[in-house]
This record gives sequence, C-alpha cells and structure tokens, in this order.
Amino acid sequence: DNVAQTQIQPNTSNNSSHFNNNLLNQKVDSVLALMRINEKIGQLVQYSGKWNMTGPSSSNSDQYKLEKLKKGEVGSMLNITSVTSIRETQRIVIEHSRLKIPLIFAYDVIHGYKTIFPIPLGESASWDLKIIEQSAAIAAKESAASGLNWTFAPMIDVSRDARWGRVMEGVGEDTFLNSEIGVARIKGFQGNNLSDNSTIAACAKHFAGYGFGEAGRDYNTVNIGENELHNVILPPFKAAANAGVATFMNAFNDIDGIPATGDKVLQRDLLKGEWNFNGFIVSDWGSIAEMEVHGYAKDEKHAAEIALNAGSDMDMQSFAYETYLEILLNEKKVSIAQIDDAVKRVLRIKFELGLFDDPYKYCNEERERTEVYSEENLAIARDVAKKSIVLLKNENKILPLSKSIGSIAVIGPLADDKNSPLGNWRAKGEYNSAVSLLEGVKASVEKNTKVYYEKGIDLTIPTVKPGENQFSQPLKFNTTDRSDIKKAVEAAKKTEVVLLAIGEDAYQSGEGRSQTDIGFKGLQIELLEAIKAVNPNIVIVLMNGRPMDLSRPTEMVPSILECWHLGSQSGYAIADVIFGDYNPSGKLPVSFPHNVGQEPLYYNQKNTGRPYNARSVTFSAYRDSPKTALYPFGFGLSYTTFKYSDITSSQTKIKVNGNLTVSVKVTNTGDCAGEEVVQLYIRDLVGSLIRPVRELKGFQKVMLKAGESKNVMFTIDSEILQFYTANKKWEVEPGKFNVWIGGSSEAELKTSFNVEE
Ligand code: BGC
Repeated sequence: DNVAQTQIQPNTSNNSSHFNNNLLNQKVDSVLALMRINEKIGQLVQYSGKWNMTGPSSSNSDQYKLEKLKKGEVGSMLNITSVTSIRETQRIVIEHSRLKIPLIFAYDVIHGYKTIFPIPLGESASWDLKIIEQSAAIAAKESAASGLNWTFAPMIDVSRDARWGRVMEGVGEDTFLNSEIGVARIKGFQGNNLSDNSTIAACAKHFAGYGFGEAGRDYNTVNIGENELHNVILPPFKAAANAGVATFMNAFNDIDGIPATGDKVLQRDLLKGEWNFNGFIVSDWGSIAEMEVHGYAKDEKHAAEIALNAGSDMDMQSFAYETYLEILLNEKKVSIAQIDDAVKRVLRIKFELGLFDDPYKYCNEERERTEVYSEENLAIARDVAKKSIVLLKNENKILPLSKSIGSIAVIGPLADDKNSPLGNWRAKGEYNSAVSLLEGVKASVEKNTKVYYEKGIDLTIPTVKPGENQFSQPLKFNTTDRSDIKKAVEAAKKTEVVLLAIGEDAYQSGEGRSQTDIGFKGLQIELLEAIKAVNPNIVIVLMNGRPMDLSRPTEMVPSILECWHLGSQSGYAIADVIFGDYNPSGKLPVSFPHNVGQEPLYYNQKNTGRPYNARSVTFSAYRDSPKTALYPFGFGLSYTTFKYSDITSSQTKIKVNGNLTVSVKVTNTGDCAGEEVVQLYIRDLVGSLIRPVRELKGFQKVMLKAGESKNVMFTIDSEILQFYTANKKWEVEPGKFNVWIGGSSEAELKTSFNVEE
C-alpha cells in the first residue's frame, strides 16, 4: 500500500529548495502522522553498507540489514557507492517497506569524489574561497551523479597539533579561516538548491572539539575551558549553521568530562536552540555506544537515552537507537516529542533533497559515466592544485626553472608515486590514478632536456596489498635498504638541478594516523645528504598531510616547495609552478615548527606574564628551541616580491557598534606578475578574558602586475571586534585595538584605534 505517496503531494512543479517553510513542515507532519514507532526509530538509524549490495549476501549481518531495510527501519546508508548499488538498495525500501520513505545515501567525499582535489589542508593554503567552493561543487556533482546525496564534510575542527593525523582533513589552526573556508565548502556542496540533483547535503563536523585531543592523539580526551571552546572552536560551526548546512556530526571526544555525543548543552541548547539549526545531527561512527566505553553511560541502553536527550538525531552504526529507543520510550526515559523532533529533522532534509518526489532522482548511469572524472573536472583540479602550492624557500631564485634546461634529476620515493598525491580519504577504489611529479616534469620540459629518474629509497614497506584497506595497518618504514642510493647520487651528479620528492605517503596522515614524530621518516634525510654532497642545487618537492619538521632541509637546500597531497593532477600542477607557468601564491594555513616538541604551535596564542624580553629580562620558553614557528601561519613566497606601505585607518575612535576602514598600499616590487594574500590581523589589548596576541580577521587575494600598486581596504565592525567575554556573551569591549596588515601572521605594518562606550 502506497500510503505515503498518496498522502504527500510531491512538489514536482516547483524545483526550488527554498521551500515555503510552512509547506515543508506540513509535508513532514503528514508523513510523521502515518508513522509507527518502529518506522520513526528507523529513520534515526544509519548503517554502513557493503561495497556492492547487488552481490550475494555473504554474512548474517548483511541479511539482518536487508530485513531491516525491507521493514522501513533504516533511514540512511553510508559507504555504498555507484548508481547501480544505490538504486538497488533504494529499491528494497521503496518496494518492500510500508511507507516507502526514501533512504539518504552518505559518503565521506572529503576532497573530491573520483576527480581528486588537494587534501583539504592543502586546498586551504590557496586562501581562495572561489576555487574552494568550485572544488566542492565538482565533488558534489560527481558524487550526486553516482547516486549519493550526502557528504560527511567539511571538517571544520580548528587543529593546532601537527601530530594529529586528521590535520590534513581540515583548514588548520585558525578560527576565522576555518569559518570562511568551511562556508565556501558548504556552498559548493549544497549550491543554492538542495533539490538540484547536482548538489548534495553537507555535514559540519565534528561538533565539537575533536581537533583538540590531548597530545595530538586521535580520539583523545579534550581538556579546554569555555574561552577556548567559544572563541576558538565554535565560531566555524556557528558560521556553518548560518550558511544553512543541512547536517552536523558530533564527535568521539569528550570535553572536560562530557562526551560530545551526549552533550546536551552543545547540541540541544546551543546548536538547535540558540543557533536555530533545523537540520539534523548524526553521531560519529559508533559514538553513541562508545559512551559506555568512556565511562559516561552504564550500558548501551543508557547511552541511547543520553544521546537522544542530548539531541543526537541519527545513530551511525551503534545499533543503540534501534535496540533501545522503544524500550526507553515505554519506560519514559525519552519522550515521543524528542523522537518526533529528530524524525522530522531527517524527513525535512529528505524532502529538501527531493527524494520524496523521486527516490531515484540521483540514480542515472548515463550521468555517472559522463560527469564523473571528466576532462573539465580534471582541468579545474589542476587549477586548484597549483593554487594550493606554497613556496617556502627560494634562495638565489633557483625557481622557476627554464623549460629548456639541459638536465634535471627527479629523485625520491615520492617522485614517481601515483598513489600518495591522492592523499588519504579518497574514494574507495581510487588508487594510483594521480599524475606523478616525474610525469608532470616530462610533460613540461622541452624535447632536448634530459630527465633522469631515480627512486633512491623506498619510504615505506607495504603491509597490505595496493588498494586494500590501510586503516588499521601499522606503518613500516624502510630503515635498512640503501641499495639504490648510489644510483640516485649518480643521477644528481650529472644534472643541473635535482627535484627531490620526499615527505609523507598518503597513509601517514588521516584518521587513526597520528604520529609522535613529524620529521622525515626512514632514510629520507640520508638520501638528501648523499645528494647534497654531489649537487647543492636541490629543490625539495614536499608531499605531506601535516606540518613537518623542516629544520634540516631548510638548512641544507636552497628551495622548498610545499605540495601537500595535491590530488589527481598533482604532477602537472607542480610542474606548472616549477617551470613558471604559474607563480605560486599559497600561504600556510598552519604553523610549521622547528621541532615536534613545540606542538601544539599556533600564532594566535595568549601572552602570559612572561613573554620574551619582558622588562628587559629574557625568560626563555625553551632552552633548546625557539618559541616561534620556522614557517609561520599565513607565510608563503612568490616569484615576485610585495611591499606593504601607507597603512591608514578612517577613524581613530569608534563606538562599540560602529565601524571603520583600514587600508594599505600593496606594491609588486619584483619583475613578474603575482597574486598576494593580503591579511588583516587585530589585537584587543585588554579583555575581560585575555585576548590572543593577534587574530586573523580578514584577507583578500589580489593580483598585481610587475610594478603595480593597489590599495586594499578592510572594514572593521562589531562582527570582527566582538568575542565571547567573561559575561558569557558575544560583546565588543571598549578599549584599544591594534591592527596589522601584511603577507603573513608576522606582518609588521601596524595602526591602532580606540573603541568607546
Ligand atoms: C569519522 C568521521 C567519518 C565517519 C564515516 C568516522 O570514523 O570520524 O569523520 O565521517 O567515520 O566514515
């Protein structure tokens, strides 16, 4: 009996997702009114699927899931990809279940689907909101063409510890940058219209604090106070909610003793209450049941009770809601109002996606064939990749190289690696499909250039077969096999320049991939030393998923190019920069330390009473290391140079709700055109809670021809000046503010103004 479809009048004529809210609510209510309790709870259940649902059912658990799908007791599936499998799974629900409520299909589309873009941290180094939005839009288009309608991205956890494996997945250490880039990604994924079948629902994650796990250990406990929580961690989530993100994901960690999944103050009171978020919150994988392991819930039943009361709407793979919610309801431990509210939130997103109009609307084999991994998408991936590269060092202008250079040696374990540039968190099955550095170089140089390739060493010793799940495998580094170093030295000896590709492979960062050592593993430094002994003209082409300890390479080589894991078009994009077709413009979204012992390291720290040189006494932070970064947040060189001058502010005094403009003159003082990311930092000198020494509050990417100057202007208003004060409110506190504008977080050009009552 086709109850739901006769009662709900699908909105077929009007394709807009800007549903009249009343109409949308009526539709949701009309479905809810038909639902039995098992069907309601079913909407709050998410299972992970097999990779191919069409294959023979091999295990009991697949059989079990199948039965639940048929009964309409599942709301969402994750990890099913391809139109065929998604259609097949949807069909089970539509053909067998009583109400035929469509499933929503989720996947971790983190940096591209089949066309792989730079890892999010790398892409963030572009500071280019337009191309970041565009890359998310393409990821959405490709995944939607493959039948998906929901991604678990963007991750907007502010992360300041390079040891944490998931630094690669986010925007880095700054709150403002996380907000701006997070919103750009959400706009890209969701477009203007969720019901458009080229867009997908986004998910702001992990709410909240996951990036602050103690000691960079994944899944670790978080011990922070309210100042850090409200002023550093939460603003990107607030921005995401304001931007209309469809869903949130909570987190594995606790904050100060309360697991995020069971945190009512964060989820129900703040996000759904104060911020008015009307999408739904999905738990992280198994995080409801894990509250028992934390020691916060007595058992899984108790965990389900805590989670629902706290506002977690959907249970990803805990099986706690499906097992216990009805019992808890009968025992009056949870209310039907709470269950109904959670169900309505899920249904609302399904309506907005248009799945009630046509549950198969994302399932089109023709689109999957033509829109995925297209030439057009690859061209954009190359553009994004080249803009994500950061030039860290370039002595004697060794870069760019001429395309007619006589000879080049391309050396290193990552030099012809077609897998590592894809980074972690790429779609399953994507393996070895990146353009390697060697391929990029060969495609760029002129016919007569001699290109020599030597691997030199292996970085890791594989523990699983190519393409197999690397998730829980320990990393094994090559520390003994030096047999090919000699060949690499020979190649370096006979060439003008060496491009040395070292750093981290794709599996050194990502979830469950924290490291206590952020240096160059295995024999990489030994290889560098051997090459340096015969040829000092070395450009390090760094590939990595986190800030690394670059002290030794910085001492040893004239040039370092930060290339992250750049995705499908990696080699071409790097060659674009190396041979000067593109002048690098990326800036670091994280501080790079002198050594791992400085972590967590970030520019926007608070002063203590004992900074350097206080009252002419030097109190050293460390005896064996500088306190500041080797390469600071916001830093990145260009083939040209920029000069900042003439900083002026329109007023010296404003009222608390007033505003002013600050402008600066930026001049390209070099001999080629280039783009510069002009950055605005402020400091509130005295606060009811100590304010950071400086904080990013604006940036603009400007293109300047050689010799050209431009005035760049920023408006500073209460949005920018306010913070979460000792009154536990967002307020602007009167007093003096300093402003710096420049090309990194160490910008020196400064002005100031006063804010009055
Ligand atoms: C991660 C999430 C991810 C989920 C589904 C979890 O382990 O923490 O970020 O979205 O798995 O793959």
